[in-house]
Parts: sequence; C-alpha cells; structure tokens
Amino acid sequence: MSAAPPLAACLRPVRAVVFDTDGVLLDSAGLHAAAWQQAFDACLTAAGEARPFDPVADYLRHVDGRSRLDGAAAFLASRGLALPPGARDDPPGTGTVAAVAARKEQAFTALLREGGAAPWPDSVRLLHALRAAGVPCAAVSASRHATELLSGAGLLGLFAVVVDGRVAARLGLSGKPDPALFIEAARRLAVPPREAAVVEDAEVGVEAGRRGGFALVVGVDRSGAQGHAAALRRRGADVVVDDLGDLLVPGAAP
Ligand SMILES: [Mg+2]
Repeated sequence: MSAAPPLAACLRPVRAVVFDTDGVLLDSAGLHAAAWQQAFDACLTAAGEARPFDPVADYLRHVDGRSRLDGAAAFLASRGLALPPGARDDPPGTGTVAAVAARKEQAFTALLREGGAAPWPDSVRLLHALRAAGVPCAAVSASRHATELLSGAGLLGLFAVVVDGRVAARLGLSGKPDPALFIEAARRLAVPPREAAVVEDAEVGVEAGRRGGFALVVGVDRSGAQGHAAALRRRGADVVVDDLGDLLVPGAAP
C-alpha cells in the first residue's frame, strides 16, 4: 500500500538520479540572485556603469550553476569590467574578481541567517517516489553551503550522496559545464552515468550532464524567463519541465 506515485516512463530505465541543488531541490536561486545583486551593483556603481545587475536574465545567463569565482568573472566580463583576479582571501569589495565573489558570499550568508531556503514541494514528492522505487539519489552543488541548506530544508536524509562545493574543492573538481561534479556523484552511487539521470536548471549544468554521458538529462525551468526552456534544450536537455511532478505518472495518487 505505497502512497508514492509511479515514475514516468523516461525515468524507469534509470538506476540512479543526480539532482542539482539550487533551483531544483531548493528555492534558493532567489537568495543567490539577491546576494549577487548586492555584490555586482556596488561594483557597477563604482565603475560608473548605469545598468544594474538583472537578477533574472543576468543571473541565468552568467552565474547560475557556476562556482562563485567563475560566476563573478563571467558577469564582470559581460559588462566589459576587466578586474584583476585577486587572491582567494581578498576581503569583500569591488576591486578584484575575488573581492566581488567574497562580497556575494558575505551577502548570501547574511540572507541565509535570515531564513534559509525552502524545498520545492514537487521535488520532495519526486524524491519520495524514487525512494519507494529503490532508486538512489545524489544532490550536487557548486556551493559550499549546499549540505547545510539541504539539512535546514529537511531533505538531507533523502540522499545517499551529496557532492557540494567543499567536496569539489577537496578533490580539485572543475565546475560546470565540466561534468566532474556529476560524474563524482554517480561514482559514489556506484552507477555509471550511462545508467543515471541528471536533473538541472542551469544551462551550464545541463551541458555538464550531456558532456558526462548521462542516460537522461532533465532540464527544469521554473524561471518563466523567455527563451530559457529553449536554451536548456539547446544545451542538451532531453526533456524540459516546469514541475518535477511531470516525472511522475499523471493522475497517480500523491
Ligand atoms: Mg541550479
């Protein structure tokens, strides 16, 4: 008498599922975007640039899914701001890429303390259905905060494996669109990528899933931003959904 609904056909051949964390499992993209906005707008103002950071379009295009340093460098380059890279321990500021990244970290940590991030209900439902079907799951993130965020949202117990920014740093794994984080998660689940699925909301993450040779790459578009679903398909998503309930059999009992 399991209450979990059956999995949709596309997931049935899959032996493991690797989930991106921010924006897929947790409603944390808004927190990240707000923190980036504080860091970048200080920098843009200092450079005399009138156009502020766009927390939807610029976030999706330049920083979503990337490590903090890679994201800072990508956005600043998009506005023609050639800041020196700086050093990893630069204090928060506007003078180097590392200082801008540190400012984002400071702002994000403050936002986390104010309340953390909630889980997406459709993701929780899918995780329970996968557990009922005996499919092990991993959570992957470029963020060093991912494990803490998953724990705070009550999701940590649903994952056999978590590969977060701390693991990536320790193992020297490259960030997305390199598939190293996803491949490490599959390795820890003892399932080859060709028998596993990736669920991702960032363009660089979808590309990483494709490059990693995963059997199924699911793009998640909760942004409603024009063209984002098409961009996810172009980067290699086999299917794009706006609700992970679409990966369950329609009409089945919740
Ligand atoms: Mg994401």
